[in-house]
Amino acid sequence: MSIDRIFRVRARRLNLREQPGTDARVLVALDEGQAVARLDDVNRGGWWYVFADTPGEGIYIGHVWSEYLTPAFGAELIAGNVVRPPPVPAPPGEADAPGTDDAADSPERETGGETGVILDSDGSAPPAPAWPDGWNPAIPAARRHPTGNQGRRAGNGCIDRVILHITGTRNFDTIIERFTAKSGGASAHYLVMPDGVIHQFVPENLRAFHSGINRTVRSLYQRQDGTWRQYKRYFSWHKGYPADAIFVDSRFAVVPPSRRAEDAVLVMPGHRGEWQDYAYFDRRWGRAAVPVGFTSPDHDPNSNSIGIEIFSIGARDPLADQYTADMYSALGMLVGDLCRRHNLPVSREAVCGHEDVNPVERWGWDPNQGFDWERLFELARKIDTPVA
Ligand SMILES: [Zn+2]
Repeated sequence: MSIDRIFRVRARRLNLREQPGTDARVLVALDEGQAVARLDDVNRGGWWYVFADTPGEGIYIGHVWSEYLTPAFGAELIAGNVVRPPPVPAPPGEADAPGTDDAADSPERETGGETGVILDSDGSAPPAPAWPDGWNPAIPAARRHPTGNQGRRAGNGCIDRVILHITGTRNFDTIIERFTAKSGGASAHYLVMPDGVIHQFVPENLRAFHSGINRTVRSLYQRQDGTWRQYKRYFSWHKGYPADAIFVDSRFAVVPPSRRAEDAVLVMPGHRGEWQDYAYFDRRWGRAAVPVGFTSPDHDPNSNSIGIEIFSIGARDPLADQYTADMYSALGMLVGDLCRRHNLPVSREAVCGHEDVNPVERWGWDPNQGFDWERLFELARKIDTPVA
Protein backbone atom coordinates (compact mmCIF):
# COMPACT_ATOMS: atom_id res chain seq x y z
CA MET A 1 0.00 0.00 0.00
CA SER A 2 1.33 3.39 -0.88
CA ILE A 3 -1.58 5.52 0.19
CA ASP A 4 0.87 8.31 0.90
CA ARG A 5 0.51 9.31 -2.74
CA ILE A 6 -2.60 11.42 -2.23
CA PHE A 7 -2.11 15.09 -1.45
CA ARG A 8 -4.29 18.12 -1.02
CA VAL A 9 -3.85 21.65 -2.24
CA ARG A 10 -3.12 23.97 0.67
CA ALA A 11 -3.16 27.23 -1.28
CA ARG A 12 -6.38 28.98 -2.22
CA ARG A 13 -5.57 28.40 -5.89
CA LEU A 14 -2.81 26.31 -7.38
CA ASN A 15 -1.99 26.03 -11.06
CA LEU A 16 -1.81 22.66 -12.71
CA ARG A 17 0.57 23.08 -15.63
CA GLU A 18 1.28 21.06 -18.72
CA GLN A 19 5.00 20.97 -17.98
CA PRO A 20 7.16 21.81 -14.96
CA GLY A 21 7.90 25.53 -14.71
CA THR A 22 5.94 28.72 -14.38
CA ASP A 23 6.12 29.45 -18.09
CA ALA A 24 4.30 26.26 -18.99
CA ARG A 25 0.68 26.33 -20.05
CA VAL A 26 -1.87 26.30 -17.22
CA LEU A 27 -4.34 23.46 -17.65
CA VAL A 28 -6.54 24.29 -14.70
CA ALA A 29 -6.38 26.14 -11.39
CA LEU A 30 -6.98 23.80 -8.47
CA ASP A 31 -9.00 24.93 -5.47
CA GLU A 32 -7.87 24.68 -1.90
CA GLY A 33 -8.51 21.19 -0.52
CA GLN A 34 -8.61 19.57 -3.97
CA ALA A 35 -7.04 16.13 -3.79
CA VAL A 36 -4.41 15.11 -6.30
CA ALA A 37 -2.62 11.80 -6.79
CA ARG A 38 1.11 11.88 -7.37
CA LEU A 39 1.82 9.78 -10.43
CA ASP A 40 5.52 9.14 -10.07
CA ASP A 41 8.38 9.78 -7.71
CA VAL A 42 10.35 12.14 -9.92
CA ASN A 43 10.97 15.53 -8.32
CA ARG A 44 11.40 17.89 -11.26
CA GLY A 45 13.00 20.76 -9.43
CA GLY A 46 10.11 20.79 -6.97
CA TRP A 47 7.40 20.12 -9.56
CA TRP A 48 5.36 16.95 -9.20
CA TYR A 49 3.46 15.08 -11.86
CA VAL A 50 -0.10 14.57 -10.59
CA PHE A 51 -3.60 13.47 -11.49
CA ALA A 52 -6.59 15.57 -10.43
CA ASP A 53 -10.31 14.98 -10.87
CA THR A 54 -11.74 18.44 -10.39
CA PRO A 55 -15.41 19.11 -9.59
CA GLY A 56 -17.07 20.51 -12.67
CA GLU A 57 -13.86 20.77 -14.70
CA GLY A 58 -12.97 17.17 -15.36
CA ILE A 59 -9.77 15.20 -15.18
CA TYR A 60 -6.33 16.65 -15.57
CA ILE A 61 -2.80 15.32 -15.48
CA GLY A 62 -0.01 17.80 -15.14
CA HIS A 63 2.59 19.38 -12.94
CA VAL A 64 2.13 21.34 -9.75
CA TRP A 65 4.52 23.07 -7.41
CA SER A 66 4.92 20.57 -4.58
CA GLU A 67 5.33 23.07 -1.79
CA TYR A 68 1.63 23.83 -1.94
CA LEU A 69 0.64 20.20 -1.49
CA THR A 70 0.16 18.57 1.86
CA PRO A 71 -0.04 14.84 2.50
CA ALA A 72 -3.62 13.72 2.76
CA PHE A 73 -2.56 10.74 4.79
CA GLY A 74 -1.04 11.06 8.19
CA ALA A 75 0.59 8.58 10.49
CA GLU A 76 -2.67 7.59 12.10
CA LEU A 77 -4.17 4.94 9.91
CA ILE A 78 -6.53 2.21 10.95
CA ALA A 79 -7.48 -0.49 8.44
CA GLY A 80 -6.53 1.75 5.57
CA ASN A 81 -8.75 4.62 6.63
CA VAL A 82 -7.54 7.96 7.78
CA VAL A 83 -8.61 8.65 11.32
CA ARG A 84 -7.12 12.05 11.68
CA PRO A 85 -5.41 14.13 9.02
CA PRO A 86 -1.92 15.39 9.71
CA PRO A 87 -1.68 18.97 10.93
CA VAL A 88 -1.35 21.41 8.08
CA PRO A 89 1.34 24.02 8.56
CA ALA A 90 0.49 27.49 7.34
CA PRO A 91 2.21 28.10 4.04
CA PRO A 92 4.77 30.86 3.77
CA GLY A 93 3.53 34.27 2.70
CA GLU A 94 5.65 34.22 -0.41
CA ALA A 95 7.23 31.22 -1.94
CA ASP A 96 10.14 30.58 -4.16
CA ALA A 97 11.56 27.25 -5.11
CA PRO A 98 14.05 26.50 -2.37
CA GLY A 99 17.67 26.47 -3.41
CA THR A 100 17.11 27.81 -6.91
CA ASP A 101 17.04 31.20 -8.53
CA ASP A 102 15.95 29.81 -11.83
CA ALA A 103 12.64 31.45 -12.62
CA ALA A 104 11.51 28.51 -14.73
CA ASP A 105 11.81 26.26 -11.71
CA SER A 106 10.15 28.59 -9.27
CA PRO A 107 6.51 28.71 -8.34
CA GLU A 108 4.47 31.74 -9.12
CA ARG A 109 4.62 34.55 -6.63
CA GLU A 110 1.42 35.86 -5.21
CA THR A 111 0.43 38.68 -7.50
CA GLY A 112 -3.33 38.31 -7.63
CA GLY A 113 -3.52 39.50 -11.22
CA GLU A 114 -1.84 37.05 -13.52
CA THR A 115 -3.90 34.17 -14.83
CA GLY A 116 -4.08 31.36 -12.33
CA VAL A 117 -1.41 32.54 -9.93
CA ILE A 118 -0.97 30.95 -6.55
CA LEU A 119 -2.86 32.74 -3.83
CA ASP A 120 -1.67 31.63 -0.46
CA SER A 121 -3.89 29.79 1.90
CA ASP A 122 -4.80 31.56 5.08
CA GLY A 123 -3.81 28.37 6.87
CA SER A 124 -7.11 28.03 8.71
CA ALA A 125 -8.92 24.72 9.16
CA PRO A 126 -7.02 21.63 8.10
CA PRO A 127 -8.54 19.70 5.18
CA ALA A 128 -10.99 16.92 5.88
CA PRO A 129 -9.71 13.35 5.97
CA ALA A 130 -8.89 12.37 2.41
CA TRP A 131 -9.78 8.69 2.38
CA PRO A 132 -12.73 8.32 4.73
CA ASP A 133 -14.19 4.82 4.62
CA GLY A 134 -12.59 3.84 1.34
CA TRP A 135 -13.89 6.68 -0.83
CA ASN A 136 -11.30 7.78 -3.37
CA PRO A 137 -10.20 11.32 -2.53
CA ALA A 138 -9.63 12.01 -6.22
CA ILE A 139 -13.37 11.59 -6.87
CA PRO A 140 -15.38 14.67 -5.87
CA ALA A 141 -18.47 14.26 -3.69
CA ALA A 142 -20.82 14.99 -6.60
CA ARG A 143 -19.56 11.85 -8.33
CA ARG A 144 -19.94 9.57 -5.35
CA HIS A 145 -23.14 7.55 -5.30
CA PRO A 146 -23.52 5.65 -2.01
CA THR A 147 -25.40 2.39 -2.38
CA GLY A 148 -26.62 -0.44 -0.20
CA ASN A 149 -25.36 -2.90 -2.81
CA GLN A 150 -22.15 -3.62 -0.97
CA GLY A 151 -20.89 -5.77 1.84
CA ARG A 152 -17.89 -6.92 3.77
CA ARG A 153 -15.16 -8.67 1.87
CA ALA A 154 -15.00 -12.33 2.85
CA GLY A 155 -11.79 -14.08 3.88
CA ASN A 156 -8.65 -12.01 4.09
CA GLY A 157 -10.28 -9.22 2.05
CA CYS A 158 -7.06 -8.61 0.13
CA ILE A 159 -7.40 -7.07 -3.32
CA ASP A 160 -5.78 -9.39 -5.84
CA ARG A 161 -7.51 -8.33 -9.04
CA VAL A 162 -9.11 -5.45 -10.91
CA ILE A 163 -12.09 -6.59 -12.99
CA LEU A 164 -13.35 -4.53 -15.92
CA HIS A 165 -16.93 -4.56 -17.20
CA ILE A 166 -19.12 -2.80 -19.71
CA THR A 167 -22.37 -1.29 -18.48
CA GLY A 168 -24.33 -2.73 -21.41
CA THR A 169 -26.28 0.51 -21.66
CA ARG A 170 -25.48 4.08 -22.52
CA ASN A 171 -28.23 5.40 -20.30
CA PHE A 172 -26.54 6.99 -17.30
CA ASP A 173 -29.76 7.23 -15.27
CA THR A 174 -30.41 3.52 -15.74
CA ILE A 175 -26.97 2.72 -14.39
CA ILE A 176 -27.40 4.95 -11.35
CA GLU A 177 -30.82 3.39 -10.73
CA ARG A 178 -29.50 -0.15 -11.02
CA PHE A 179 -26.42 0.42 -8.90
CA THR A 180 -28.34 2.12 -6.11
CA ALA A 181 -31.49 -0.03 -6.26
CA LYS A 182 -32.87 -1.14 -2.91
CA SER A 183 -33.15 -4.79 -3.90
CA GLY A 184 -31.58 -7.08 -6.46
CA GLY A 185 -29.20 -4.36 -7.49
CA ALA A 186 -25.72 -4.69 -8.84
CA SER A 187 -22.83 -2.36 -8.20
CA ALA A 188 -19.20 -1.69 -8.96
CA HIS A 189 -16.58 0.40 -7.26
CA TYR A 190 -16.05 2.71 -10.23
CA LEU A 191 -17.69 3.82 -13.46
CA VAL A 192 -15.64 5.41 -16.25
CA MET A 193 -17.46 7.69 -18.69
CA PRO A 194 -16.55 8.39 -22.36
CA ASP A 195 -15.19 11.83 -21.42
CA GLY A 196 -12.91 10.26 -18.82
CA VAL A 197 -14.96 11.32 -15.81
CA ILE A 198 -14.93 8.74 -13.04
CA HIS A 199 -17.76 7.97 -10.60
CA GLN A 200 -17.56 5.86 -7.46
CA PHE A 201 -20.33 3.75 -5.93
CA VAL A 202 -18.68 1.50 -3.39
CA PRO A 203 -15.75 2.28 -1.08
CA GLU A 204 -12.67 0.29 -2.02
CA ASN A 205 -12.49 -1.50 1.30
CA LEU A 206 -15.95 -3.01 0.75
CA ARG A 207 -17.21 -5.76 -1.54
CA ALA A 208 -19.19 -4.60 -4.59
CA PHE A 209 -21.68 -6.80 -6.48
CA HIS A 210 -20.19 -7.02 -9.98
CA SER A 211 -18.79 -10.51 -10.58
CA GLY A 212 -20.83 -12.99 -8.58
CA ILE A 213 -20.99 -16.55 -9.89
CA ASN A 214 -24.30 -18.39 -10.34
CA ARG A 215 -24.50 -21.63 -8.31
CA THR A 216 -24.99 -23.91 -11.31
CA VAL A 217 -22.21 -22.18 -13.21
CA ARG A 218 -19.99 -22.60 -10.16
CA SER A 219 -20.63 -26.34 -10.20
CA LEU A 220 -19.23 -26.41 -13.75
CA TYR A 221 -16.03 -24.64 -12.72
CA GLN A 222 -15.72 -26.96 -9.71
CA ARG A 223 -15.34 -29.88 -12.12
CA GLN A 224 -11.96 -28.39 -13.07
CA ASP A 225 -11.99 -30.20 -16.40
CA GLY A 226 -12.81 -27.43 -18.87
CA THR A 227 -16.23 -28.91 -19.74
CA TRP A 228 -17.75 -25.52 -18.89
CA ARG A 229 -16.99 -24.69 -22.54
CA GLN A 230 -20.07 -26.74 -23.48
CA TYR A 231 -22.35 -24.29 -21.67
CA LYS A 232 -23.39 -20.68 -21.65
CA ARG A 233 -25.53 -19.03 -19.05
CA TYR A 234 -29.11 -18.62 -20.28
CA PHE A 235 -30.42 -15.06 -20.46
CA SER A 236 -34.08 -14.43 -21.34
CA TRP A 237 -33.11 -11.19 -23.08
CA HIS A 238 -30.52 -12.76 -25.40
CA LYS A 239 -31.77 -13.29 -28.95
CA GLY A 240 -28.75 -15.03 -30.44
CA TYR A 241 -29.19 -18.68 -29.38
CA PRO A 242 -29.07 -21.03 -32.39
CA ALA A 243 -32.25 -22.84 -33.42
CA ASP A 244 -30.94 -26.23 -32.30
CA ALA A 245 -29.64 -25.03 -28.92
CA ILE A 246 -30.39 -27.24 -25.91
CA PHE A 247 -31.61 -25.53 -22.73
CA VAL A 248 -30.98 -27.16 -19.34
CA ASP A 249 -31.99 -26.38 -15.77
CA SER A 250 -29.92 -26.28 -12.58
CA ARG A 251 -29.87 -30.10 -12.47
CA PHE A 252 -28.73 -30.24 -16.14
CA ALA A 253 -32.11 -31.69 -17.19
CA VAL A 254 -33.33 -30.56 -20.62
CA VAL A 255 -35.97 -27.83 -20.41
CA PRO A 256 -38.91 -27.88 -22.90
CA PRO A 257 -39.43 -24.62 -24.86
CA SER A 258 -42.60 -23.85 -22.86
CA ARG A 259 -40.63 -23.75 -19.59
CA ARG A 260 -37.54 -22.04 -20.96
CA ALA A 261 -38.03 -18.59 -19.43
CA GLU A 262 -38.77 -20.08 -16.00
CA ASP A 263 -36.34 -22.99 -15.71
CA ALA A 264 -33.43 -22.64 -18.13
CA VAL A 265 -30.10 -21.86 -16.48
CA LEU A 266 -27.63 -23.00 -19.12
CA VAL A 267 -27.58 -23.40 -22.89
CA MET A 268 -25.68 -26.06 -24.88
CA PRO A 269 -25.03 -26.06 -28.61
CA GLY A 270 -27.09 -28.61 -30.57
CA HIS A 271 -23.99 -30.77 -31.11
CA ARG A 272 -23.30 -30.78 -27.34
CA GLY A 273 -19.68 -29.87 -27.96
CA GLU A 274 -17.94 -26.64 -27.06
CA TRP A 275 -19.28 -23.22 -27.92
CA GLN A 276 -17.24 -21.37 -30.53
CA ASP A 277 -17.47 -18.22 -28.40
CA TYR A 278 -14.81 -19.54 -26.04
CA ALA A 279 -12.16 -19.27 -28.76
CA TYR A 280 -11.67 -15.73 -27.45
CA PHE A 281 -11.08 -17.01 -23.91
CA ASP A 282 -8.69 -19.68 -25.23
CA ARG A 283 -6.73 -17.12 -27.23
CA ARG A 284 -6.21 -15.15 -24.05
CA TRP A 285 -5.72 -17.98 -21.56
CA GLY A 286 -5.12 -21.19 -23.47
CA ARG A 287 -7.01 -24.35 -22.53
CA ALA A 288 -7.37 -23.36 -18.89
CA ALA A 289 -9.53 -25.81 -16.92
CA VAL A 290 -11.01 -23.04 -14.78
CA PRO A 291 -11.55 -19.30 -15.20
CA VAL A 292 -8.99 -16.73 -14.12
CA GLY A 293 -8.61 -16.66 -10.35
CA PHE A 294 -10.84 -19.68 -9.68
CA THR A 295 -8.38 -21.13 -7.22
CA SER A 296 -10.81 -22.61 -4.72
CA PRO A 297 -14.26 -24.25 -5.07
CA ASP A 298 -15.97 -21.40 -3.26
CA HIS A 299 -14.01 -18.63 -4.96
CA ASP A 300 -15.88 -15.32 -4.89
CA PRO A 301 -14.36 -12.80 -7.30
CA ASN A 302 -16.14 -9.92 -5.56
CA SER A 303 -14.41 -10.48 -2.24
CA ASN A 304 -10.95 -9.89 -3.64
CA SER A 305 -11.40 -7.43 -6.45
CA ILE A 306 -12.10 -3.89 -7.46
CA GLY A 307 -14.83 -3.66 -10.11
CA ILE A 308 -14.73 -0.98 -12.79
CA GLU A 309 -17.59 -0.41 -15.20
CA ILE A 310 -16.91 1.08 -18.62
CA PHE A 311 -19.82 3.09 -20.03
CA SER A 312 -20.41 1.07 -23.18
CA ILE A 313 -22.58 -1.52 -24.85
CA GLY A 314 -21.51 -5.14 -25.00
CA ALA A 315 -20.93 -7.30 -28.05
CA ARG A 316 -18.99 -10.34 -29.07
CA ASP A 317 -17.80 -8.43 -32.11
CA PRO A 318 -14.75 -6.24 -31.68
CA LEU A 319 -16.36 -2.84 -31.33
CA ALA A 320 -13.17 -0.90 -30.83
CA ASP A 321 -14.91 2.44 -31.38
CA GLN A 322 -16.84 1.96 -28.15
CA TYR A 323 -13.85 3.18 -26.21
CA THR A 324 -12.67 6.77 -26.40
CA ALA A 325 -9.14 8.06 -25.88
CA ASP A 326 -10.35 9.87 -22.73
CA MET A 327 -11.77 6.61 -21.48
CA TYR A 328 -8.44 4.84 -21.93
CA SER A 329 -6.60 7.72 -20.24
CA ALA A 330 -8.92 7.68 -17.24
CA LEU A 331 -8.85 3.88 -17.04
CA GLY A 332 -5.06 3.93 -17.32
CA MET A 333 -4.77 6.35 -14.43
CA LEU A 334 -7.33 4.57 -12.29
CA VAL A 335 -5.98 1.08 -12.95
CA GLY A 336 -2.36 2.21 -12.55
CA ASP A 337 -3.21 3.91 -9.27
CA LEU A 338 -5.15 0.88 -8.02
CA CYS A 339 -2.31 -1.48 -8.91
CA ARG A 340 0.18 0.73 -7.17
CA ARG A 341 -1.88 1.15 -4.03
CA HIS A 342 -2.87 -2.50 -3.78
CA ASN A 343 0.52 -3.86 -4.77
CA LEU A 344 -0.68 -5.53 -7.96
CA PRO A 345 1.35 -5.95 -11.12
CA VAL A 346 -0.02 -4.20 -14.20
CA SER A 347 -0.59 -7.53 -15.91
CA ARG A 348 -3.45 -9.38 -17.57
CA GLU A 349 -3.67 -11.76 -14.58
CA ALA A 350 -4.26 -8.92 -12.15
CA VAL A 351 -6.27 -6.72 -14.52
CA CYS A 352 -8.81 -8.65 -16.56
CA GLY A 353 -12.41 -8.71 -17.72
CA HIS A 354 -15.60 -10.12 -16.28
CA GLU A 355 -15.49 -12.56 -19.22
CA ASP A 356 -12.15 -13.90 -17.93
CA VAL A 357 -13.30 -14.61 -14.36
CA ASN A 358 -16.70 -15.93 -15.41
CA PRO A 359 -16.69 -16.94 -19.11
CA VAL A 360 -19.88 -19.03 -18.91
CA GLU A 361 -21.89 -15.98 -17.94
CA ARG A 362 -19.98 -13.45 -20.09
CA TRP A 363 -18.70 -15.44 -23.10
CA GLY A 364 -16.43 -12.78 -24.53
CA TRP A 365 -18.50 -9.61 -24.37
CA ASP A 366 -17.77 -8.02 -21.01
CA PRO A 367 -15.95 -5.81 -21.97
CA ASN A 368 -16.42 -6.49 -25.67
CA GLN A 369 -13.62 -7.96 -27.74
CA GLY A 370 -12.64 -4.61 -29.20
CA PHE A 371 -11.20 -3.52 -25.88
CA ASP A 372 -7.47 -2.88 -26.27
CA TRP A 373 -5.89 -4.42 -23.18
CA GLU A 374 -2.33 -3.61 -24.25
CA ARG A 375 -3.24 0.04 -24.65
CA LEU A 376 -4.65 0.06 -21.11
CA PHE A 377 -1.58 -1.67 -19.68
CA GLU A 378 0.76 0.75 -21.42
CA LEU A 379 -1.10 3.72 -19.89
CA ALA A 380 -1.36 2.09 -16.47
CA ARG A 381 2.35 1.30 -16.42
CA LYS A 382 3.11 4.99 -16.96
CA ILE A 383 1.43 5.63 -13.62
CA ASP A 384 3.69 3.07 -12.07
CA THR A 385 6.88 4.81 -13.15
CA PRO A 386 9.77 3.64 -11.01
CA VAL A 387 11.81 6.18 -9.09
CA ALA A 388 14.16 7.93 -11.51
ZN1 LIG B 1 -19.68 -7.48 -16.01
